[in-house]
Amino acid sequence: MPTTQHIPVVIIGAGPAGLLLGQLLYKAGIDNIILEQRSPDYVLSRIRAGVLEQVSMDLLRQAGAAKNMDAHGLHHHGIELLFGGQRHRIDLHGLTGGKYVMVYGQTEVTRDLMEVRAAEGLTTVYEALHVQPRDYDSGHPRVRYEKDGELHEIHCDFIAGCDGFHGASRASIAPERIRHFEKVYPFGWLGLMSDTPPVSEELIYANSERGFALCSQRSLTRSRYYLQVPLTDKVENWTDEAFWDELKRRLDPEARERLMTGPSIEKSIAPLRSYVAEPMRFGRMFLAGDAAHIVPPTGAKGLNLAASDVGYLARAFVDYYQNKSTHGIDQYSEQCLRRVWKAERFSWWMTTLMHSFPEEGAFHTKVQEAELDYVVNSRAASTSLAENYVGLPMR
Ligand SMILES: Cc1cc2nc3c(=O)[nH]c(=O)nc-3n(C[C@H](O)[C@H](O)[C@H](O)COP(=O)(O)OP(=O)(O)OC[C@H]3O[C@@H](n4cnc5c(N)ncnc54)[C@H](O)[C@@H]3O)c2cc1C
Repeated sequence: MPTTQHIPVVIIGAGPAGLLLGQLLYKAGIDNIILEQRSPDYVLSRIRAGVLEQVSMDLLRQAGAAKNMDAHGLHHHGIELLFGGQRHRIDLHGLTGGKYVMVYGQTEVTRDLMEVRAAEGLTTVYEALHVQPRDYDSGHPRVRYEKDGELHEIHCDFIAGCDGFHGASRASIAPERIRHFEKVYPFGWLGLMSDTPPVSEELIYANSERGFALCSQRSLTRSRYYLQVPLTDKVENWTDEAFWDELKRRLDPEARERLMTGPSIEKSIAPLRSYVAEPMRFGRMFLAGDAAHIVPPTGAKGLNLAASDVGYLARAFVDYYQNKSTHGIDQYSEQCLRRVWKAERFSWWMTTLMHSFPEEGAFHTKVQEAELDYVVNSRAASTSLAENYVGLPMR
């Protein structure tokens, strides 16, 4: 027989979505537990996103987990688009009435959230195996899991499925209740992290004949660079030297000259995918973050969407517990999906604008060149890019 207890909200997954939700609920006086299949070290070893929108910054502040971000995050007021050998600045700040993005790594966000959770004495069960959400269509949902060979069961009011693309929450839903929308791109991103100063103060998105490149960063001393590579490529095929050589070929002469190279501290290939699951609510279980949707990283939206989903979900739970209203819960899926699809559109558009698609032929390339020219020379087009890049507001 499993050990049992009752906790109002069970959160599955201790990525940014789960940890942020836990903290927002705690601040509102709503008890919760997080079940995570991996160890804390494993969770922190994943190198992922690095650009935060205003909405994410605000939610981290609301959660009481923004001290380090505010002290060490870098305010970025613009990005550069490089094409035809020339760089063109998009003035995010000027075009959006003073908005900006914050460069602060996902690993740091996760660590900050873990630390505030531990300091408040809140429970996260790491290495919780075989997590199974059950009975979420009834008024009495339960979550089962195994820890150190023992079976546990938690009875709860709600389950938050924050367990990423391969998690147990979405997998538990009967196929006929869920719709999947997916686009897989014919390339991936080879990423390299190095303890070298960034090549430029702002991010450079490069469209070159040899493929896309991104010069990103995590701090003034840590850089993150990416190259578009075929899906069939393997990270073992890329020495650090080969990476730096190829990156230089995709940059303009000034950036090539300034680029400081060094040994990689991480190197990996990520496939690019657009994906949405609809709806995002199933009775008393709610999907949030990568459990419900994936965007290609070109628009820097993945982590930010995870944050806005749990922002909506926290509001809905607060409304339920404090005002006995189910309005937020009933609106959750529709409200999230409106924002999700706008971010999906923007991420797809940025990906299509900046990458090479040789299989699409010369017509595609010419249209792409025309669109790039339009984006940097039309204030309306630059503004559209800027307002999506800094993030659309949460309604
Ligand atoms: C290689 C890579 C690079 C990326 N780069 C960028 C980028 O540059 N910019 C950007 O905006 N986004 C990027 N993303 C996307 C961004 O990292 C994600 O959108 C973000 O991590 C989503 O957070 P999440 O909490 O929803 O999911 P996750 O971070 O995936 O967290 C889910 C958690 O649930 C746990 N879990 C999974 N299954 C179970 C289970 N059965 N039981 C219990 N726990 C479970 C996992 O171990 C994990 O800790 C990248 C993603 C990847 C994979």
